Amino acid sequence: MFLNDPVILLAVITPFGLMTTLLLCLSYLGLGKHNTSLHWWLAGDLLMAAYHVAALLQPGVPSGSLAWLPVFTPAGAHAVGTTLLMTAVGAHTLALYHLLERGHSRAWHLRMLLGVPMLYLAGALLALHSPYTLPWFCLCMFASIAIQARVTWRMARSYRGAWGLLAGQAVLLAFQGSGAIMLTLHPLPPLPFHAPFFPTIDALLMDALVSFLLTLSYALALQEQLRQRILNLSRTDSLTGALNRRGAGDIVAAEWQRARTDPHPLAIAMIDLDRFKSINDQYGHAIGDAALQAFSNTVMRLKRQRDVLVRWGGEEFLILLPYTDVTQAHGFLKRLRDALHNGPVTPWLPFALEFSAGVADTDTLASIPDFEALLREVDQALYRAKRERNSIELVNPA
Ligand code: GH3
Ligand code: MG
Ligand code: MG
Repeated sequence: MFLNDPVILLAVITPFGLMTTLLLCLSYLGLGKHNTSLHWWLAGDLLMAAYHVAALLQPGVPSGSLAWLPVFTPAGAHAVGTTLLMTAVGAHTLALYHLLERGHSRAWHLRMLLGVPMLYLAGALLALHSPYTLPWFCLCMFASIAIQARVTWRMARSYRGAWGLLAGQAVLLAFQGSGAIMLTLHPLPPLPFHAPFFPTIDALLMDALVSFLLTLSYALALQEQLRQRILNLSRTDSLTGALNRRGAGDIVAAEWQRARTDPHPLAIAMIDLDRFKSINDQYGHAIGDAALQAFSNTVMRLKRQRDVLVRWGGEEFLILLPYTDVTQAHGFLKRLRDALHNGPVTPWLPFALEFSAGVADTDTLASIPDFEALLREVDQALYRAKRERNSIELVNPA
């Protein structure tokens, strides 16, 4: 086949290699400084490229051989080449872990990067003069790609790019898995080999295509992650971690619509912290900020997952409570008040936080036309509560 000519092969593989490199360089120029995941992926790609070049220079022997280097025996060359390949897979796996934003220790990184290659090397040395070096290689590759696929699977729900990664990994798993079985059933003579054990050129071509698919999908997933991160930043209040008003917009509209189409009570509470100005005046703005954070943390701890906390302005918060009526919402606010009074909100905060609140729900005000009208009602209730302070006022049409 014409692909047996290394020059033609290089001409076929190079465009993919160039595209992959270009893609990475572009990402790196824009994002490299901000993204540790990209460093790992780039390192993996460079290792992979080194492996491909080595294998290409010696197309007559099994892929992964560095036999063209006079310092290695064919068996040693095979071991070094494949260790290189497995380290590349390890680096890619680390990149995916970073994309998932799982923090890990240095020792864990080292284990991840070197564990499988070392295991491979140990096994390869043991099996060096038996026919089982190659199945061992396939098995180790299978294990390391399976770990990668497991990490990718966890990303698949958040990032569409991850499906491309999974597709590439599935191809590799099938390839290495069938290789392990075939080579165990029909072992090849011990190393050194004189003939290719599978069509090396085709395998290399497949490798290059899969590498390209993996890197393209990785770049897509990375881009999606950054987009989501920027979106989250623009929707979140940086001091308290609550949603800001822009972030609340979509959720409020969706919950309002849901409460209409699948009728259920939707409660909202507007909360204003009491005498906050004097906290600032007496203790300083930094303590005031800490108090706002403590308040938000306490709500986050008490609320259900579906409830939404919004920082409406300064020291004013809106809480949205789906599937909750005004009495249940009142109960929630009382629990919040108790937690702020009794609990160690923040051990070093030298005062208890108090708030006033207005509460209403869509069931009691069945004829209310829109969310803004509901908000006006709640605002008036809050205004009434403020006359006494440290109180909760329910909106009651009666
Ligand atoms: P009231 O009981 O009537 O609500 O009294 P108040 O002092 O809480 O009312 P007011 O709305 O007049 O004051 C709100 C204060 O909240 C004024 C402002 O300095 C303070 N504030 C708003 N945002 C922040 C913030 O991000 N950090 C700090 N430290 N203070 C804030
Ligand atoms: Mg206020
Ligand atoms: Mg206030």
